Amino acid sequence: MAVVPDHTEQSAALFARAAAVTPGGVNSPVRAFRAVGGVPRFMTQGDGSHITDVDGNRYLDLVCSWGPMLLGHAHPEVIAAVQAAVARGTSFGTPSEAEVLLGEEIVARTPVDKVRLVSSGTEATMSALRLARGFTGRAKIVKFAGCYHGHVDALLAQAGSGVLTLGIPGTPGVTEATTADTIVLPYNDQAAVTAAFAEYGDQIAAVITEASPGNMGVVPPVDNFNGFLAETCRSHGALFISDEVMTGFRITRSGWYGVDGVRPDLMTFGKVMGGGFPAAAFGGRADVMAHLAPEGSVYQAGTLSGNPIATTAGLTTLRLATDEVYAKLDETSLTVQRLVSTALDKEGVPHVINAAGNLFSVFFVESSEDQAPIRDFTGANAQVLPRFTAFFHAMLNAGVYLPPSAFEAWFVSSAIDGDALGELESALVPAARAAAA
Ligand code: PLP
Repeated sequence: MAVVPDHTEQSAALFARAAAVTPGGVNSPVRAFRAVGGVPRFMTQGDGSHITDVDGNRYLDLVCSWGPMLLGHAHPEVIAAVQAAVARGTSFGTPSEAEVLLGEEIVARTPVDKVRLVSSGTEATMSALRLARGFTGRAKIVKFAGCYHGHVDALLAQAGSGVLTLGIPGTPGVTEATTADTIVLPYNDQAAVTAAFAEYGDQIAAVITEASPGNMGVVPPVDNFNGFLAETCRSHGALFISDEVMTGFRITRSGWYGVDGVRPDLMTFGKVMGGGFPAAAFGGRADVMAHLAPEGSVYQAGTLSGNPIATTAGLTTLRLATDEVYAKLDETSLTVQRLVSTALDKEGVPHVINAAGNLFSVFFVESSEDQAPIRDFTGANAQVLPRFTAFFHAMLNAGVYLPPSAFEAWFVSSAIDGDALGELESALVPAARAAAA
């Protein structure tokens, strides 16, 4: 049962203390609730589909730690495996068996021939770019507006004003030189990709894209966009990098690859494969991966890469993520989408639900004429943000934890049951009313 959060004193007190020692009081910006306002909730516990904060408020969790908690929180088998691993020691700085097993599991589930384990999605995409540049001997990278690949300097770039201007730094601290080789294009825009390759084709090392973007809200590829990217890269000697940090092992056993079957040259993974611990990976074609140290000359390393606890948590999670689990996730996701849409329709709130497998997000739009699926970052930016803010807070107050930003995917776990869906349905009544106001 969710408990209606009627007090936030302990969270507010911790947030004030945190702000004294940490910029903005958080260790990752979106946690600070800046987009929606209010006091970020400090969680103390998770069990199954729910999380509980320091004030004792309990929430149905539709964030799932931004994706990793596919099976819900504190799954008994994951906890037992982690406890056993911890008791044997936490890090050796040597190879260990769990990383071999996790590597084998990833290779078995995805089209990659070889994989290298790292500790965050950011490291995975950064390393994949370096490898692509080292392999091709080229400098330029194509990315898409609205796609997020972690806080890799070269990928924190914004599109310039013309379609073919090179990237400009997206944040202070990233130099113009760092983004000068980054080309930022509109997502799902094949003509823009063709134009970029016509101009720079022999200088482009790689195109990197989210396999199905979730970081501008969920905006799936249309008209075989990934297939088009793979083919364009192939015909110009560039590599196609599919970032499956969010979608990998979540949408299907492999990820978005299980939906569109487009084989990338390199892939990146994270989130689910760490089972709630810091573990991520990049992998791909054997001939490309052979360029990586110590086999090849492209340097890449990590003190805690393949950490025995993280790899045990990830491996146990993946082994438990069976076809039945994915079927349940799909079904739960569809039910959540239907409940949200029904509640919003009842209050006459115009909205679009974009889905990519079991990932989805709800866009509040201006009018019922705008209810076509969102295709790119420009479309995602046309949301009516105050409606999301009102909806978010009403859901929070009714005991449902949503991503605290309108530009995020919603995540379901296989721990969500009929009772939890009943809680959601009740919470949606005041939330839809708040969004309509
Ligand atoms: N790539 C994608 C698609 C992501 O969604 C994220 C994080 O949300 C990252 C990369 C970066 O991963 P991390 O936060 O583990 O560095």
